[in-house]
Amino acid sequence: MDQTFSCERCGRELSRRRLKEVVYEEGRHRIRELLCANCLDQVMNESSRVRGVVGTIRAAAAHIDRGPAGGERVSMGQRG
Ligand SMILES: [Zn+2]
Repeated sequence: MDQTFSCERCGRELSRRRLKEVVYEEGRHRIRELLCANCLDQVMNESSRVRGVVGTIRAAAAHIDRGPAGGERVSMGQRG
């Protein structure tokens, strides 16, 4: 079976096996996007750090750190 999915950024249709899975945190939420290779490139360019993680949909996903620009700093030592 060759299902097609559309990229969540540009809307291009791709077969499922060509999609790239990207995860990142938006505040406290974990966001997952399925992107084409072009959009993945863009996302990675905008991010400060990328690491490989195990995806839910794909075996290999890219985890994006969006860098210090967000301004939302979590201070350690305030648990409890
Ligand atoms: Zn795309």
